[in-house]
Amino acid sequence: MRIRKELHEGQAGPNLSDYTRERASFSWGRAREELDGLPDGGGLNLAYEAVARHVAGGHGSQTAIIWLGKNGGRTEISYAELDSLSDRFANVLAGLGVHPGDRVYSLTGRIPELYVCALGTLKHRAMFCPLFSAFGPEPILQRLNLGGASVLFTTERLFNRRIAAIRDQIPTLEHVLIVGDPKRPKHPEGTTDWADAMASAAADYRIADTDPETPAVLHFTSGTTGTPKGAYHVHGAVLTHYVTGKLALDLHPGDVYWCTADPGWVTGTSYGISAPLTNRVTMVVDEAEFDPKRWYQILEEEKIQVWYTAPTAIRMLMRAGAEFPQSKDLSALRFMASVGEPLNPQAVVWGQEVFGMPFHDNWWQTETGGIMIANYASMDVKPGSMGRPMPGITAGIVREGDDGHMHEVDDPDQDGELALRPDWPSVFRGYWNNQERYEACFRDGWYLSGDLARRDDEGYYWFVGRADDVIKSAGHLIGPFEVESVIMKHPAVAEVGVIGKPDPVAGTIIKAFVSLQPGRKWSDELQKEILGFGRKNLGTAAPREIDYCQSLPKTRSGKIMRRLLKARELGLPEGDISTLEGADS
Ligand code: ATP
Ligand code: MG
Repeated sequence: MRIRKELHEGQAGPNLSDYTRERASFSWGRAREELDGLPDGGGLNLAYEAVARHVAGGHGSQTAIIWLGKNGGRTEISYAELDSLSDRFANVLAGLGVHPGDRVYSLTGRIPELYVCALGTLKHRAMFCPLFSAFGPEPILQRLNLGGASVLFTTERLFNRRIAAIRDQIPTLEHVLIVGDPKRPKHPEGTTDWADAMASAAADYRIADTDPETPAVLHFTSGTTGTPKGAYHVHGAVLTHYVTGKLALDLHPGDVYWCTADPGWVTGTSYGISAPLTNRVTMVVDEAEFDPKRWYQILEEEKIQVWYTAPTAIRMLMRAGAEFPQSKDLSALRFMASVGEPLNPQAVVWGQEVFGMPFHDNWWQTETGGIMIANYASMDVKPGSMGRPMPGITAGIVREGDDGHMHEVDDPDQDGELALRPDWPSVFRGYWNNQERYEACFRDGWYLSGDLARRDDEGYYWFVGRADDVIKSAGHLIGPFEVESVIMKHPAVAEVGVIGKPDPVAGTIIKAFVSLQPGRKWSDELQKEILGFGRKNLGTAAPREIDYCQSLPKTRSGKIMRRLLKARELGLPEGDISTLEGADS
């Protein structure tokens, strides 16, 4: 199946209008000329490109952030305000004696100060390390110590609940900055009050020369396959953020854009801070958690033009029904994209039916720092495919040969590991304190992603599964995604996760766990019906067992944790579950 793209009369063309031509003519060097760089050849600073550059260019009065409070407030922050607030915060850090390279962590919900903290930290050339605010004390402690935190920026409530009891176990932590309740201006002992510190800092900060190789952001991966890794990126990564925001998300200056990811995960910084601001859009930040009614209201009232979200949210919207969106005026919406885990073909098609446009899947990882493979606004979409590599990105499907080296598989439709030539600006520069693990990701000139994929004869990539999740059954390699996508088509199924289960006769059998659509009840008949549906559509790749789960275990970033389904099924240790949704908060 294919969703064809046609340009309608009067419609502004997408930034990437001809994939083949753009790919052939693209160079990172030329793309770099679209950014300003620091004055007088002072290098490349992410925060300068994101805000200061636009103020210098006369766009200071444009709204940078529309912030929607979970209790109903709405605040607009202009580029000029964001620039001067982040200057102030850089001065706060300087005043505290924080050095370039020191790690400044944040642990807050999506409040405006979080964005000021991120940009100010980067202006000061310290490293910004965002943590997800629902983490409990253990995962927080683990991550603060892994990166050797100097500064923690948090709220009074989170400090009292999560940090106070563990503070003496973080030997490197020198300063804790607190956003308090303005009505009770009394901050906990041994902490610095954000508002006081900001009020007494100067509103102008001169960004020092920044070599593009200067470390900028430290992110912990989602922990879907094991213990999270601390991957870090450099200021030069801003070029990938800018280019991918422009070409893969089709951001135009002045667009109203909404990335639903939290900055505790890489999508929420690369595409919730850097890409939108460098492309000078107006970005919506919603403080509240997922809620279908609220989301449709935001899309309508804020007149969102470009929307970047994730498969889990899309599946939940599908579950909430099509009545909501159909009763809304969503005519401003121009482009919808998704990332984070495989996007089932039905979800892409549902987008087309309900919103009049498909969801555009794209693929990348914390380690890649930015979008690597995407479905573009001007390119036909094949539902279920992640799309084609970005201009400037060389991707390949590789396998280990008999000689022990990695070789590209040239024939189409062959499974192999998805690999990239590591020469783009936002490729990670290390796993913090784990050089060995970092080096193991690179072989024979490739960065190995740990994901398995296929490429078809038109160069579209198809996700097969994570190397850790792939099932070897009766001599075949079976990707869970393919099986899940078929089972998802059954009308009773809302979500599905598939694992390989050891079996004394068959070696390994396929087992599926499903959650159901509202109004459906689990029964022996339904189980038989779904098993039969699988057999009819999948043959030997069909699940032999199906169990019901009220909801599947997911990471807080919204990914199904198949390794946990498997551990629970086999009675094995659950491993690192610090990112499990609902745990430990
Ligand atoms: P960990 O490496 O700690 O197990 P993680 O890999 O889930 O965690 P992230 O970097 O947040 O951490 O996620 C990247 C991974 O998410 C990819 O390697 C891939 O497995 C999956 N993914 C992201 N986008 C897509 C997509 N469009 N289709 C399929 N899988 C995707
Ligand atoms: Mg990973």
